[in-house]
Amino acid sequence: MERSTIVRVHDGLHARPATRFVNLAKGFECDIELIKADKSINAKSSVKLMLLGVKENDEITVRATGADAAEAIEALIGFLENPHSGTFEINTAEKIKSVEVAPVANNTVSHSHLRGVAASEGLAIGKAFGFFPAVIDQENRTIAKDAIPAELARLKQAFATVQDRMNASLEIDNLAASDRGIIAALKDIACDQDLVDGATTLVESGMDAISAVIGTTSRIASDFAAIDDPYLNARADDMNAVGRQICLALLGQNDVNLDAIPEGSILIAEDIGAWDLARAPLKRIAGIVCGRGGATSHVAIIARAHGIPAVLGLGSDVQRLSNIGTVAIDGNSGEVFEDPDQEIVARFQRKIAEATAEKHALSVFKDFIPKRADGTIIEIAANIGSLEEIEAAQEAGAMGVGLFRTELLFMRHMHLPSEDFQTETYAALATAFAPYPVIVRTLDIGGDKAVSGIDFPDEDNPFLGWRGIRMCLDRPDVFKPQLRALLRASAKGNIKVMLPMVSSIDEVHATRALIDECIAELKAESQEYALFGLGVMIETPAAVLIAPALAREVAFFSIGTNDLTQYIMAADRLNPTVAKLNDVTHPAVMTAIEMTTTAGVQAGIMVGMCGEAAGRPDLIPTFIKMGLTELSMSPASIQRAKKCVQDFG
Ligand code: PEP
Ligand code: MG
Repeated sequence: MERSTIVRVHDGLHARPATRFVNLAKGFECDIELIKADKSINAKSSVKLMLLGVKENDEITVRATGADAAEAIEALIGFLENPHSGTFEINTAEKIKSVEVAPVANNTVSHSHLRGVAASEGLAIGKAFGFFPAVIDQENRTIAKDAIPAELARLKQAFATVQDRMNASLEIDNLAASDRGIIAALKDIACDQDLVDGATTLVESGMDAISAVIGTTSRIASDFAAIDDPYLNARADDMNAVGRQICLALLGQNDVNLDAIPEGSILIAEDIGAWDLARAPLKRIAGIVCGRGGATSHVAIIARAHGIPAVLGLGSDVQRLSNIGTVAIDGNSGEVFEDPDQEIVARFQRKIAEATAEKHALSVFKDFIPKRADGTIIEIAANIGSLEEIEAAQEAGAMGVGLFRTELLFMRHMHLPSEDFQTETYAALATAFAPYPVIVRTLDIGGDKAVSGIDFPDEDNPFLGWRGIRMCLDRPDVFKPQLRALLRASAKGNIKVMLPMVSSIDEVHATRALIDECIAELKAESQEYALFGLGVMIETPAAVLIAPALAREVAFFSIGTNDLTQYIMAADRLNPTVAKLNDVTHPAVMTAIEMTTTAGVQAGIMVGMCGEAAGRPDLIPTFIKMGLTELSMSPASIQRAKKCVQDFG
């Protein structure tokens, strides 16, 4: 029995919808095939299904044979014809695992002093613990015919062992949600029928089990790597990681795992797979140094979420580090010191002790609600850029999110994120911080940040060029899906939206016109949505000078001191030669902040700040006096800022 249809699922049977489709298919006893063009696959294998590459508007046939074939076809065709199949269920694993590994940045300063990418803030000093798992090679043994059943049993046992190990990890009570998601996704692969069948067939033909597993996983991994979709390319690494685990089980070995890492070690690795890091005893790891990776790699995200200082992208020097005794790392500057001398050790120890004592003393402020002398609440919110950072912000006591930088959503992938994916992300954020607001900044690409899927012209002065709201208004095909996603997510929670790089009121009007268009479309499609408060970032001198007029048009201001300082001072924020001029305390910048705040307060709108200056204890009292009522900063600064408002507010 079979039926054909046109796939209406948004973005096709991409990761999440594919997993859900397979789970639905597995609920029926009959055999089910999915046929696209001349290719037919088993609909109960997510690997096969993803490799079939089913896109929205493809014609597909579902063929079923068995007792419940009619019900299965009915349900699966219904799934394929529903554009929203696979939406509104947040799976952190899929997001975290889709992070690209940034290119290696090897920037050597001297033999004893290296510099990499500052990926997670904080200082650490400790004994180096090298994590360089051995490569497992194919054995290429031919198994005698009468020994094949035993080899098959060995293979079956190895699959079971890996699945059991992953189940045991999932049962750990205090596993972070994001880590649980990673392990669950890997377990899904370890149970995949295509993988099991592929390896079994090779052993049945006389190949040894290790070679069969490596052969099958690398075949599937290269299929994933060949697809023109970065999300699916990342599945290749997962497939190899799972293959490795099965081979180790066949060898009767555990991986060089991090269980034995001594308390206070600095973990040194070329790279760390999601599986290894997620199950590592993170509390014992004082710092992380990797040869590969960058600020947006999953190692960086997990390190930040767990408050572990990290320097990544160190290149080949990392091999040498594992053979030395002590390593000191500065996750703020990206510096790494090999066998540091007495003076450096003393400096690091002093700074770490100060930070630890301060952190401990400040923890009483986690749930504190800071108020100004007149009783007005000062919201101390978090700046974050991904869902994986939610936990750290909540643990710090963030009163909502004052700046969600959406760039990372766009930069992580080599294609633009879909409207559904964005809706899920924004809704998850709003749910996590309810009842506090989450301020989502619309895409601020350009300047120093680029995104695949958007062609940027070569500009002599990119910081003065086509970035932020300027680019978005020229590209409604990029901007409208984001605005639609924000409207849809607002129905799920307290979302506010702000526009970056605004320099004229026309930009606000043009955005409102696009929002109205989006609302009309959503109404026509009977989609659920809600209105959000629209604010602007004040980060150009023009915005400061027209602040009184802008304040009449928007719901709030958020001062972006990072850009405001560079534009007021005409000093590139990335150019170390003019770093001295990049000073937020310069009277010109402080005057601009005061002018903005006065305009906002007089118009009766909220004025907040989300640039780095918002977390500076030396400036917070001045900002509060000016009239700012919201300060948004990195989670690590939140408790200190709350104390500061209490002491001087
Ligand atoms: C700012 O400019 O102060 C700001 C918060 O935005 P970004 O640093 O992302 O440009
Ligand atoms: Mg900015």
